[in-house]
Amino acid sequence: MKIKFLTAILASTISMTALADGTHGTQIKTTPLNNSVYMLEGQGGNIAVIENSNSLYVVDTQFANGYADIKNEIGKISPKPVRYVINTHGHNDHTGGNASFVKDFNATIIAHHNTSDLITAYNQNNATPNALPHLTFEKSLKLAGDEPIHLLYFANAHTNGDIIVHLPKSNIIHAGDILFFGRFPFIDVKNGGTIDGMINGLNGIIKLADDNTKIIAGHGNIASKSELITHTKMLTTIKNRVAKLKKKGKTLAQIQATRPAKEWESSHNWNFINNEKLVESIYQSLP
Ligand SMILES: [Zn+2]
Repeated sequence: MKIKFLTAILASTISMTALADGTHGTQIKTTPLNNSVYMLEGQGGNIAVIENSNSLYVVDTQFANGYADIKNEIGKISPKPVRYVINTHGHNDHTGGNASFVKDFNATIIAHHNTSDLITAYNQNNATPNALPHLTFEKSLKLAGDEPIHLLYFANAHTNGDIIVHLPKSNIIHAGDILFFGRFPFIDVKNGGTIDGMINGLNGIIKLADDNTKIIAGHGNIASKSELITHTKMLTTIKNRVAKLKKKGKTLAQIQATRPAKEWESSHNWNFINNEKLVESIYQSLP
């Protein structure tokens, strides 16, 4: 038991460090989703690369020190310049490479207003401040091109600045961290995340999807619409259990002891978010 416990602590420490600083020598895996859209997996949130006739659009930029490897991998897809970078939200495992994309490509960064505020806050504690978004929006934004891009805001989901990237022509959606697929989600309550907002965002993605839609998770594998529905049902069930007990006046510890996520603990616990942390974030973000 002791060894197991120590391993859990170590794993969680390593994960926290990775989230804070990134890691060196990033191994990047590229998966083509069709002729013009690619998913890149490395350290941090999943990246999408979208190829237009004259340029590339990149969704999320992982950690600052993974940039050289990411740039190299994007160069293998196409020599075209990266004209736009889209940030799904402000966490540094999705935005750390921003400054380098601006320096190398003079890329324009697009994000929600609140993402700008979150990166500004991170910059205050950072010796090398990151590039802020150049273009921000409130509810939605459409970018024309060979591959039209629709950006859609979902309030108070994983943070207070989450957008999804919908590619209607390719039938692909990048869900950002509204979707942690195959594992329990991180709800960043300190930065405006709530369980209701996350479920609302997931339902919004389900509405846009059909049976052939490829859904890129912020973390985890590509999901189908039916897998997304199952994931959303899981979170809704756990939330309803926590909400019922909270309404009765039970404390967080009492609710955790009932194991509201018990059916999914073995399949969905991971080193950063286990069932107790999930229940805590749900409890904290419920009215
Ligand atoms: Zn995140």
